[in-house]
Amino acid sequence: MSFLLSCPFCGPRPVDEYAYFGEVTTRPSGSPSLRELTDYVYFRENVAGVQREWWQHRMGCGEWFLAERDTRTNEVHAVSVPETARKSGTAE
Ligand SMILES: [Zn+2]
Repeated sequence: MSFLLSCPFCGPRPVDEYAYFGEVTTRPSGSPSLRELTDYVYFRENVAGVQREWWQHRMGCGEWFLAERDTRTNEVHAVSVPETARKSGTAE
């Protein structure tokens, strides 16, 4: 299935130009158990609904960004630049 995804830097482009890197996860803090680390590395929520995901505009500007996409319809509700990219000035 093809759909348009809007790069924060280039605007709307066919999804074929992008690389998908999965849903946003949170690294366990403190001293996580082996089970917590295994869950973090290997398991995903895989929701049927809106989730935050990592994307890279691989065949365009090459930048990484976050998208909120409905996995049922591929409707993209929002895209944003990760905070670390803003601090380094790559988003400006
Ligand atoms: Zn781009």
